[in-house]
Amino acid sequence: YLRNDRRLMNVALARLVETDDGIADPDDVATADDAKEMAIEQPVRLNDQRLAAVVQALKAASARRILDLGCGQGALIKELLKQSWVEKVVGIDASWRALEAAERRLHVRDMAPRQRERLDLWHGALTYRDTRMRSFDAAAVVEVIEHLDPPRLKAFERTVFGDAHPSTVVVTTPNIGYNSLFANLEHGSLRHRDHRFEWTRAEFKSWCDGVADRHDYTVAYSGIGPCDEALGSPTQMAVFRR
Ligand code: SAH
Repeated sequence: YLRNDRRLMNVALARLVETDDGIADPDDVATADDAKEMAIEQPVRLNDQRLAAVVQALKAASARRILDLGCGQGALIKELLKQSWVEKVVGIDASWRALEAAERRLHVRDMAPRQRERLDLWHGALTYRDTRMRSFDAAAVVEVIEHLDPPRLKAFERTVFGDAHPSTVVVTTPNIGYNSLFANLEHGSLRHRDHRFEWTRAEFKSWCDGVADRHDYTVAYSGIGPCDEALGSPTQMAVFRR
């Protein structure tokens, strides 16, 4: 967290090297510098890689008007608003709390009018048809499907691929096969308490191929994050093109 805010990081590091009489011990300074270097050199976090991959996929698809379905606290929206090629982003989430957090984190109230016009946040469910979703080039569905009860996946498919039917849909979800490589994840557990499932690459492919077939899309697969030869990458991504 501090790594993303150099000012805060420096304050924190300065605190780390403070001593009782206010004079820092040189060894402590060295330790603090090591910590700083580590913080800087720390490999890009998976979440950042995921967002970058999704932004890249949307750009490659020439998407201008984009839905962020299950936008959560607005991390992808923040990245998309930095892109000059993005005309409009609409974040949709079923959680008021997430939308309020997104509003705060994106500083919506203080946005310049031109920027404010590029963004909307809607409260809504991805399992109910919403005709307003029909006028977009692309939909991003980042780390959301695994939060849906499996019987609701059909309704989600109908809403997004059948009714909204944008030219491009980008879906990411965990690859359960990779879980055994997370040192801090208990064997056999899922990555998040609210995950209803996590899929193998074969399960994800089987679902995506079916969706693509039923709604007239082609689909391409890739992995995000470090790739293990046998187990693949931690995140799997499907890019659907109509
Ligand atoms: N895309 C965001 C958030 C992922 S967490 C990110 O990558 O950071 C999953 C989000 O999906 C949560 O914010 C949750 O509220 C939302 N969600 C889950 N089921 C939903 C549904 N049926 N309709 C709309 N949003 C839903």
